[in-house]
Amino acid sequence: MRSKRARRQARRERKEAEAIEAAALQLKTDEKYMKQAIKQAKKAAELGEVPIGCVIVYEGKIIGRGYNRRNTDKSTFSHAEISAMKKAGKVIGDWRLEGCTMYVTLEPCQMCAGAIVQARIPRVVMGCMNPKAGCAGSVVNILQMKEFNHQVDVTRDILKEECSRVLKDFFAGLRSRDKEGRRGK
Ligand SMILES: [Zn+2]
Repeated sequence: MRSKRARRQARRERKEAEAIEAAALQLKTDEKYMKQAIKQAKKAAELGEVPIGCVIVYEGKIIGRGYNRRNTDKSTFSHAEISAMKKAGKVIGDWRLEGCTMYVTLEPCQMCAGAIVQARIPRVVMGCMNPKAGCAGSVVNILQMKEFNHQVDVTRDILKEECSRVLKDFFAGLRSRDKEGRRGK
């Protein structure tokens, strides 16, 4: 018969294995939805907009999608996150997006981070960070200020390389077009 100690040890190991399995599953899920956010970012690039994309997931379903269309709409508010939140709110029938997870390819700005806190979104998953303007840990961390009535659970660096490559490719394309333009003059 196994000793009490051995049984405890076995239980601990089982729990650890379960935690590792759960984390792996979570990562797989996060990557799946981040891919969808990247798809949205590419839609922005097609319009000549800085490629940032977002999806909002509720009970395993995407209920809001959005991409940056600031120039197209001539509106400050046309950020990927705000568009996705508007759609999600309509589906849920509430401005509170409780129980939702937001996936966004780039760290949110101050406006979007503020809206996320207002909407009580419990979890935000980000692709790459935005060191010069991000408000979820870079410049400030609006999502996790203890002074506010809501704090967000934040996951960073999901498909980070892919998310930043979409942006880099876009800006490289702009620069080479700019060069061609100057040569043509
Ligand atoms: Zn924003």
